[in-house]
Amino acid sequence: MEFLIDAHTHTLASGHAYNTILEMVSAARGKNLEILGITEHGPAMAGSCQDIYFNNLRSIDRKVFGMEVLLGAELNIIDYKGGTDLRGDIIREMDITIASLHNVCIAIGSREQNTAALIGAIKNPLIDIIGHPDDGHFPLDYEAVVKAAKEYGKPLELNNGSLKPGGFRINAWENNMEILKLSARCGVEILISSDAHFSTDVAEYSYVQEFLKEADFPEELLLNGNPDRFRKMVHKYKKSGL
Ligand SMILES: [Zn+2]
Ligand SMILES: [Zn+2]
Repeated sequence: MEFLIDAHTHTLASGHAYNTILEMVSAARGKNLEILGITEHGPAMAGSCQDIYFNNLRSIDRKVFGMEVLLGAELNIIDYKGGTDLRGDIIREMDITIASLHNVCIAIGSREQNTAALIGAIKNPLIDIIGHPDDGHFPLDYEAVVKAAKEYGKPLELNNGSLKPGGFRINAWENNMEILKLSARCGVEILISSDAHFSTDVAEYSYVQEFLKEADFPEELLLNGNPDRFRKMVHKYKKSGL
């Protein structure tokens, strides 16, 4: 399968990533991607950009050196109902939105609370993708999460950064095994992302590829080989009724 999409990357604007948009696009071209998503952390993440940054994304070209660029945010889930850290009127204008749990932005709750938070985000029509649900810091009822993802047509992310040895997340391998097993059974689509915070990590999927050898997941449920199908699942094209 060709990997034509990396929808989850960060630039200098996120405060703890290290390249410009142009540098990330150049890296994406080197990997022959068709779509690059740039999704800065929401404002609740220390050092990330504020409302005004997201509000001005209209000033950036969406074709950069021939690369389709989707601009948006990785929103922080900040309560156990799935509320996020940007206003709806700002989110609405974005091309792509990911929502994720980060333990620097929300206290780790009980399994029930974490699950309710994630399902709240899945139900939110302004959220396109659920980011790294594999982080064992946040125990989750994966069966409930995958069922909700199916019901609301939301893809779940398979994050290369989570699988990288020495990363911030824990038990990602085991958790992803469970998520993919349930997703295969329920027909939930999976989006592979790098979560790159440096240009050399753009579309760097080596850990995911190792993982997929063991996971035996149906290729037709992986969105990365199917940009047209992916476009239908993101904000920008949902808005224009593609
Ligand atoms: Zn980050
Ligand atoms: Zn994240």
